[in-house]
Amino acid sequence: MRLCVLGSGGIEPDPQRSGPAYLVDSGRLKILLDLGPGALRQLARAGTPADGVSVLCLTHRHPDHHAELWLLLQLLRTHGRRQALSLLAPEIFAEYLEFFAGWGRDHRVELPFNLDSHWMPGSRRFTGVHISGRLVPHVAGSVGYRLEGNGRVLVFTGDCGPGEEVVRLAAGADLLLCECSLPPGARSAAHLAPEQAAEIAARAGARRLVLTHLPPHADPEQILPACRDRGVEAVLASDLEWFEV
Ligand SMILES: [Zn+2]
Ligand SMILES: [Zn+2]
Repeated sequence: MRLCVLGSGGIEPDPQRSGPAYLVDSGRLKILLDLGPGALRQLARAGTPADGVSVLCLTHRHPDHHAELWLLLQLLRTHGRRQALSLLAPEIFAEYLEFFAGWGRDHRVELPFNLDSHWMPGSRRFTGVHISGRLVPHVAGSVGYRLEGNGRVLVFTGDCGPGEEVVRLAAGADLLLCECSLPPGARSAAHLAPEQAAEIAARAGARRLVLTHLPPHADPEQILPACRDRGVEAVLASDLEWFEV
């Protein structure tokens, strides 16, 4: 599996970082994790046509994580896509999709392809990749994802606060893509500071820690030592950076 960071930022508009979105290329499948502001443009910059995506995983209802869902569906509709698109998401998205379908008011927006929806938490096996979505502490229904394929494990926390659920989600990950919204020392039930992300990685036995969902002006000189203090070497994600899982 290869991971491309499409957007390493959070909800604040940031000249350096696009909104939360990630592309996973398993060799056979192209999988999107979240679809925040700027995701489709970043996908184009990563050299991947949106038509090539076959699975979309959404973590939660905050719009910085799905703002371009409607754009993607409209784009694929415009292209006359026939191939099914699998959607893994919390069940609230059933309502959002109804809302999208009703955009035309006097006519329903019909998609020319099957949007194959699976409500999370739960799991789904695709060719060569098993994806499970598990609840994490953030807003109700928020999930993080665990992707397993070819003996490798990629874990994406989505937005989350600290909790045993996150440690279990990340257990034995080859690469842990972990949110880090807070500066060192700050505390919230819904987000993580770098030393908390490092602690989760250490307890989970994750082999690599990549920090993302970074605020504007995130300072590696502050963030990375906070991880090192917990015995964990981390890196800050950058937009359009590729990682071999
Ligand atoms: Zn967020
Ligand atoms: Zn959120």
